[in-house]
Amino acid sequence: MANSVVLSAILLDWFDQNRRDLPWRKDRTAYGTWISETMLQQTRVNTVIPYFERFLEMFPDIPSLSAAPLEDVYKAWEGLGYYSRAANLQKGARCCTEQFGGALPQNYNDLMTIQGIGPYTAGAIASLAFGLPEPAVDGNVIRVFSRLYALPLTQQDEKSKREVTDLVRRVLPEDRSGDFNESIMDLGATVCIPGCPACGICPVSNFCQAFLLGKQSELPLKKAKKPSPVFTYTIVILKKGNTLFIRQRPDTGLLANLFEFSSYPGLLHPGELQTLLFRDFNLSPQEIGSITSLGEATHVFSHIKWEMEGYLVEINEINDDIYSPLQFSEKEETGNFYTIHYARKMAFPSALKAYTAVVFR
Ligand code: SF4
Repeated sequence: MANSVVLSAILLDWFDQNRRDLPWRKDRTAYGTWISETMLQQTRVNTVIPYFERFLEMFPDIPSLSAAPLEDVYKAWEGLGYYSRAANLQKGARCCTEQFGGALPQNYNDLMTIQGIGPYTAGAIASLAFGLPEPAVDGNVIRVFSRLYALPLTQQDEKSKREVTDLVRRVLPEDRSGDFNESIMDLGATVCIPGCPACGICPVSNFCQAFLLGKQSELPLKKAKKPSPVFTYTIVILKKGNTLFIRQRPDTGLLANLFEFSSYPGLLHPGELQTLLFRDFNLSPQEIGSITSLGEATHVFSHIKWEMEGYLVEINEINDDIYSPLQFSEKEETGNFYTIHYARKMAFPSALKAYTAVVFR
């Protein structure tokens, strides 16, 4: 094994000269670290930067995040995906308000009691914000360590995570634990990248067993990926004057609490759609002004894929008791007509971006 003191010294020296200039690194706070690390899960740095800045403007601290309506938090999160992370941030902020005097607790074990904070985020907050010697191991850190020590690890695997956490503990310098964790993050993001790493400019190539064995592209091991199940939907945007029919998704499950348009399972032709609108919305032929195709769209989630076809349905007149009995969850939910101006402030999933972009432009 590489001499851990020399290895960490080289990494810290490299980090001092090459650290990325990121907004959450200026005036480092525990709250900013929490928000940025939560946003960075499954999302690229360049995408996160404007979200982070806007979020901190809207909710600059734990009290403001605790007190905000959840809808505002979702709106600030709109487009980042994985909305349960946004809901957990607010639950976590409320927990800090009730149990920790309105601040994040300054030790790993208490951080782990907060909803939405797992070992990686707790380690990141503890080391980066409080200078505690805690590892912060995610898939990128597993990639770097799998190569450094030529270990046959996989990135999304709990056993690999535990193994790398033990390795990081052995090289983590007590006096600069946060910088060390960030040096690995930056090395993984800019040099030891997936696929073909830039070993020619790597500061630790002399220590790297995968490089010395010529195995850097083979590690970490790739998990065989099963194809995601595909679900098809016809998205129906009912428009009456300057209002749109919108409903809220259930408060649990996929895209919980977000707003959406009506929909039917399957890809329907306009004729089929018209028949269903007569049946389900109690509309007469005179009330349907026009049905315009908004085209196809696809959205890939981490575990499933949606294939959609959208239609804008202009309604001339409508009954007062309109309701929508079909939706993605197949659970009955009522909706309402909202003015387009008001609806722009509602949080829609990015899965519907192809259609919200048309009706809200
Ligand atoms: S030498 Fe190559 S594989 Fe090894 S840590 Fe550096 S970039 Fe990664």
